[in-house]
Amino acid sequence: MPEYRLPKAALQKEIDAIARAGVEIRTNTALGRDFTLDDLTGKMGYKAVVLAIGAQRSRRLGVPGEDLKGVMHATDFLRDVAMGKPVDLTGKKVVVVGGGNTAIDAARTALRLGASAVHVVYRRTRAEMPAQGTEVAEAAEEGVQFHFLVNPSRILGPGYITGIELVAQELGEFDEGGRRRPKPIEGSGFVIAADVVVPAIGQGTDLSCLNGDAPETNRDSTFKVDSLLATSRPGVFAAGDAVLGPATVIEAVAQGNQAALAVDAYLRGYKAGNARRMTEYRTTDLSYKLEDYAEAHRAEMPARDPDERAHTFEEIELGFDEETARAEACRCLRCDLEYEEFMAKQEADEG
Ligand SMILES: Cc1cc2nc3c(=O)[nH]c(=O)nc-3n(C[C@H](O)[C@H](O)[C@H](O)COP(=O)(O)OP(=O)(O)OC[C@H]3O[C@@H](n4cnc5c(N)ncnc54)[C@H](O)[C@@H]3O)c2cc1C
Ligand code: SF4
Repeated sequence: MPEYRLPKAALQKEIDAIARAGVEIRTNTALGRDFTLDDLTGKMGYKAVVLAIGAQRSRRLGVPGEDLKGVMHATDFLRDVAMGKPVDLTGKKVVVVGGGNTAIDAARTALRLGASAVHVVYRRTRAEMPAQGTEVAEAAEEGVQFHFLVNPSRILGPGYITGIELVAQELGEFDEGGRRRPKPIEGSGFVIAADVVVPAIGQGTDLSCLNGDAPETNRDSTFKVDSLLATSRPGVFAAGDAVLGPATVIEAVAQGNQAALAVDAYLRGYKAGNARRMTEYRTTDLSYKLEDYAEAHRAEMPARDPDERAHTFEEIELGFDEETARAEACRCLRCDLEYEEFMAKQEADEG
């Protein structure tokens, strides 16, 4: 996630908290390169392994010219920028292909790296874009140009990219996902000049690190898991995007918690199980007046001016003032009470 949305300092605090909890973090150590799954469960002596390797491999466009110089797949591009590797786009014309949050992040990052023009091309309409509406609106405010109902048919070279050929689309029958399938309109091809093309049409899990020895997977390259997140290989669990496909941080973290419970149960010989243990129903005092709550709408987050933020990786959101922050806190429904009770009960059971 780019720094303008998730500053490194905020992320570091989370990582520090995990390390303080006693987790040993070994960086620059890769499954597949430095050790295998067999090594982990064999000579390295781990009784359980959780594969949480994400879904970071960009899907290919499958059009001629995809291997020309100047094609940068979105996840590789965003990773390079996040790792501080220099990617100079000064004065370059960039075309991003796709309609999800990754496409929008790639486009906004390209702007911040000095691109002279950034186009996002998407094969359906704006209404069907999987990206969050606010992200799309913010990108447009910053100067990203959107082209809907177009799909690339080839990337033009030779050698370095000179442009991308697009074909206009019309929406036809509904697909299994409930969205109308785009169909090319014959003879509608046209070219946009481009120096860089960034495909961002979806991601899958990179299974190459498992050296052909991966536990069973689904067709979309996610791991097959049972209700306890166990894969087809004994002692090997999986969680996060590698199970869900590209999802969200909240879902991945939630599954991380489930995986921890499942591994704990496995190491204890499945005596405990990880079935959801609910606390008993009881009432509790509200921290707000119910009548006030009905009127309490989400406050709008102040943000940097679009002209300013399009040239900086500084965080876009400026934060609430104290009064607004307090009003926001009052909208909390205390859904954590159940969790707090659950944890307290678990500690008491174990203590
Ligand atoms: C551009 C972009 C923007 C996003 N924006 C949002 C957002 O705004 N909000 C949101 O909720 N979600 C967002 N997401 C989704 C979110 O990042 C993921 O859902 C979440 O990070 C998944 O967590 P994970 O732990 O399963 O996988 P990841 O966070 O992908 O972590 C996988 C880790 O495994 C490591 N790894 C992979 N292979 C190996 C190997 N062989 N050996 C060792 N380590 C390995 C990787 O380096 C990585 O550190 C975004 C995703 C992208 C790509
Ligand atoms: S405890 Fe409050 S702030 Fe936290 S998720 Fe629940 S409702 Fe939201």
